[in-house]
Amino acid sequence: MAEKCVFLDRDKTIIEDPGYLTDPDAVKLLPGVELALRSLSQAGFKLVVVTNQSGIARGMLTEDALDEIHNEMRRQLSEHDVELDAIYYCPYHPEGTVEKYTRVSADSKPSPGMLLRASKDLPIDLNGSWMVGDSPRDIEAGQRAGCRTVRIRHKGDEGPDEDEDVQADFTVRNLVDAARIILRESGTGAAVGKGYEAPAVPAAGTGYLPTGAETPVNNMTDSQIFGEILRHIRRTRTPEGGSEFSAIRLIGAIFQIFAIVALAWGLIYIPGVTVTAEGNFNEAYNNQIVVHVALLSATVLQLASLTFFTISKQR
Ligand SMILES: [Mg+2]
Repeated sequence: MAEKCVFLDRDKTIIEDPGYLTDPDAVKLLPGVELALRSLSQAGFKLVVVTNQSGIARGMLTEDALDEIHNEMRRQLSEHDVELDAIYYCPYHPEGTVEKYTRVSADSKPSPGMLLRASKDLPIDLNGSWMVGDSPRDIEAGQRAGCRTVRIRHKGDEGPDEDEDVQADFTVRNLVDAARIILRESGTGAAVGKGYEAPAVPAAGTGYLPTGAETPVNNMTDSQIFGEILRHIRRTRTPEGGSEFSAIRLIGAIFQIFAIVALAWGLIYIPGVTVTAEGNFNEAYNNQIVVHVALLSATVLQLASLTFFTISKQR
């Protein structure tokens, strides 16, 4: 029986894109990818990577080198119990420098060749499947194969589209949110955040989704995904914002320490405020002044400390 599948672009969808990736040591999974893929796999989706690799036609790497890169990607995913069902790549390009690979190919996205081949090989029900990628050509390939589509637009990639005719069914910031939408829309009931309204915009192409930091997350049922999103939020927080946040808390803590010192100072002098048997009125009077000043200072310092802590929480 044909199964449902999530087709995945590789660069900037699963792994970081340093340009033309030629070194297995440079393979780095994007945050949350392993958790998103595991959720999809557990919900019954096949996971198939479809990637244009025109670097082979351009002579920048060989198919053997590409295999090493993909083995490393599989190895990193398998450390998190994620197994890809297949990886399809297109090494061809009409403007290549290596003759063997210099041609137009029906596999090259935006053509849907790799998806159509996979649908026969595995086999896959294309109408029940999804294509996820960061580029308009990923979305077009998915649409031409009959799949629903999710476009990932990373922070900083929100400029006008180079191809406004190609609009995905949904647009998100990362693969975690893409997985949420796919699971919700597919009615799998999979537990990747029940009660969570997955952010989605219609195919207007002008907007993009809020980041995880602005997304309400309710009743998370997968604590790992929640942790991963928090990690992602921390990564996207600006360094300036982070240091400002800490500085205000530090000032609050300093005021708190001075408040405690002032309080201790006042308490030490309290026994001396009563007139002793020797009747030293001046000493008792001076001690009373010290206690009043100390306790007043402690109160003011404590209020200042609370003010700074409150400000730091509101930021
Ligand atoms: Mg890409």
